[in-house]
Amino acid sequence: MISEPTCVFCKIVAGVIPCQKVLETERALVFLDICPVNLGHVLIVPRSHHTHLAELDDADAAHVGSLLPKICRAVLSVTGASAINVVINNGRDAGQGVDHGHWHVIPRFPDDAVHWPWPHVAYPPEGPGPLRERISSALAGE
Ligand code: 5GP
Ligand code: ZN
Repeated sequence: MISEPTCVFCKIVAGVIPCQKVLETERALVFLDICPVNLGHVLIVPRSHHTHLAELDDADAAHVGSLLPKICRAVLSVTGASAINVVINNGRDAGQGVDHGHWHVIPRFPDDAVHWPWPHVAYPPEGPGPLRERISSALAGE
C-alpha cells in the first residue's frame, strides 16, 4: 500500500487526522465530507495513495465500484434524497483539490443549489468517427 506523508487523506487512513467514518473495508474508507455539497455527502477513499484515477490499481477500482450500490442505498434512505451524483475530479483543471483520488457520493434534492448540466460542445465537421478510432486504438494498446 502506498502512503504519502503530506497527504491529508493518507493521514485520515492512518488515523492521524479524525474523520466521520461510515464504512471501513480492507481497501477503502468511506467518510463524511468535511464541507458537504448537501448533507449526507460522503467520500470513498482507497487506502492506497494514487493522485489520479488513471494511476489507480485495477483491484482498488473494482473494489470501490462494488461498494457504490450499497453506499448509494444508505445515503438515499438516510437523507431522503431523490437522486445522487457520483463524481470523481481528476486533476486541477477538473477541480481536484485533494491529490489522493476519491469518489464523491452527493445526495440531490429537488431544486437544490447544485448547478447541472455541464455545457456541451459540437463535434468537428468530420464528426465523432476519428476521435472514436483514436480512443479505441489507445485502449487496444493498453
Ligand atoms: P476534490 O475537490 O479533491 O474532488 O474534493 C476534496 C473534498 O475533500 C472536498 O469536498 C473537501 O471538502 C473534502 N475534504 C478536504 N479535506 C478534508 C478533511 O480533512 N476531512 C474530510 N472529511 N473531508 C475533507
Ligand atoms: Zn494520500
